[in-house]
Amino acid sequence: MAVDYQSLAVKGVQALSPYQPGKPIDELARELGLDPAEIIKLASNENPLGPSEKALAAAKKALESICLYPDGNGFDLKQALAKRFGVGMDQLTLGNGSNDVLEVIARCFADANSEIIYSQYAFAVYPLATLAIGAKGVEVPAKDWGHDLDAMAEAVTDRTKLIFVANPNNPTGTVHTADAIEAFLDRIPERVLVVLDEAYCEYLTGDEYPDGIKLLERYPNLITCRTFSKAWGLAGLRVGYAVSSPAIADILNRVRQPFNVDSPALAAATAVLEDEDYLRRSREVNAAGLKQLCDGFDNMGLSYIPSAGNFVAVEVGPQAQSVYHSLLEHGVIVRPIAGYGMPEHLRVSVGLAKENEHFLDVLAEALSSGGEEG
Ligand SMILES: *Cc1c(COP(=O)(O)O)cnc(C)c1O
Repeated sequence: MAVDYQSLAVKGVQALSPYQPGKPIDELARELGLDPAEIIKLASNENPLGPSEKALAAAKKALESICLYPDGNGFDLKQALAKRFGVGMDQLTLGNGSNDVLEVIARCFADANSEIIYSQYAFAVYPLATLAIGAKGVEVPAKDWGHDLDAMAEAVTDRTKLIFVANPNNPTGTVHTADAIEAFLDRIPERVLVVLDEAYCEYLTGDEYPDGIKLLERYPNLITCRTFSKAWGLAGLRVGYAVSSPAIADILNRVRQPFNVDSPALAAATAVLEDEDYLRRSREVNAAGLKQLCDGFDNMGLSYIPSAGNFVAVEVGPQAQSVYHSLLEHGVIVRPIAGYGMPEHLRVSVGLAKENEHFLDVLAEALSSGGEEG
């Protein structure tokens, strides 16, 4: 009898659906016969500035040595991060993107008998990492599109091993203040680990927001995750990291792949930390672009979720899927988020002024013609 190989997969894996990435530029170009250079991708929260020159030069230089394995301990990058944040190198775990770190955390601290808590509308990798290890995902209903931190604290049971908190969250852009995060952490038993995912923290302005790295001293059960993919502009190289207590980092470093960050990535990430000017420009372009997009939505009478990230979820109504396709036909890629249970929103990443302007024009057109088509 033929074997149903899918049925051999562990239960959680059978239940999961793959992560839906933003459509790649070359794919759309192939499908529609467009020139890739004319396509605008505002779909994956990438940095519209292009990479830092310093990072690019360092990555190119590292290419000369790609016959050698990378430094499995990531010494230079860890040293640079430790210096920047005033932590010990033994508190750091590097990952192939912070996605890798999130998965390693789940594998190290939870199993099929565990519950992992995350919020409705939170980053899609949390349920993926949970189901992949056969753990039970406990999705807590959101409040005003953001995490309901009180309800998440109340959801803790004897089986809870991990809680994922995205601050700011993707795809909603919602953010909690330091007071709210600390009040939440105060309620969580020390045996439960809290992963504070700060993929967008570099975009936060104002001192009312938490710095997960500074909170580590007070909350030993905290793991703060960050990435080079967003404000630092290195999404294609895949570098992220966790900052935690040395004890937790020791565990994570046992389980991660020994060479999980490649040498051009290590070199570029180390170099970009020296490029404060790039980070400053990332923030400026983002703040201006976010305002431009929101002003545009206001002018069109569209509601959106106020965002603290480099993207914004705009409500276009039940015809969101057709608006998405009509944007594609005009060479603009955004992100449908029906998979997140938000079928009437589209998530658009902040681009350069010209890109935002073009997107807003095409959106206005799509919305007016979408009505006629029915
Ligand atoms: C983009 C993102 C990440 C990480 O991306 P990597 O490229 O894997 O570092 C993590 N968390 C959230 C909420 C994100 O949006």
